[in-house]
Amino acid sequence: MKIVFATNNPNKIKEVQSLIPSHITLVSLESIGCTEEVPETQDTIKGNAIQKAAYIKENYDLDCFADDTGLEVTALNGAPGVFSARYAGPERNSEANMNLLLSELKTKTDRSAQFKTVVALHYNGEIITFEGICEGEITKEKKGTGGFGYDPIFKPLENKFTFAELLTEQKNQIGHRGKAVRKLVTYLNFV
Ligand code: IMP
Repeated sequence: MKIVFATNNPNKIKEVQSLIPSHITLVSLESIGCTEEVPETQDTIKGNAIQKAAYIKENYDLDCFADDTGLEVTALNGAPGVFSARYAGPERNSEANMNLLLSELKTKTDRSAQFKTVVALHYNGEIITFEGICEGEITKEKKGTGGFGYDPIFKPLENKFTFAELLTEQKNQIGHRGKAVRKLVTYLNFV
């Protein structure tokens, strides 16, 4: 089975690739000639995931899945959520995003947060979604050099380390994307 993974984020590809069994071949956007930015203009994480998968189906007529992720912080009423990528501005700069979040939380005692991933699959003319949530807290400072995005300031529940201090396999075991992608793989094994 061949299926397009609609992302240009090499970190997401690395995480997802290691969860996909060998009979499923992940096809990159580059290899189908998709060099334009895939639109994600919806106001929910699920809406964006569906929009990205549907864009590939409509424009390239290929089965596809896409992931959209947001970091929901309790003390900020769920922000940055669907706006996680552009939290500190349109440049989508992870350092600036983390710095802004750390400064917004400076006076807050509740540092609980969760990552939410929705994977949308466009397959055999149907769209189906899979959700993965990882609860944790925002640390007071950045720790670790692995991962990407907000990983250096997110410590999953009952864990001593931030995502950026874990190996990809360890992050996948407990992380939001791992949970959603394992549901996707279970589904694909039965279709
Ligand atoms: P998107 O899913 O690529 O739209 O990601 C939204 C924002 O969340 C971006 O700033 C990403 O860097 C960040 N992000 C997505 N997934 C993760 C993750 O697994 N860990 C940390 N940050 C993430």
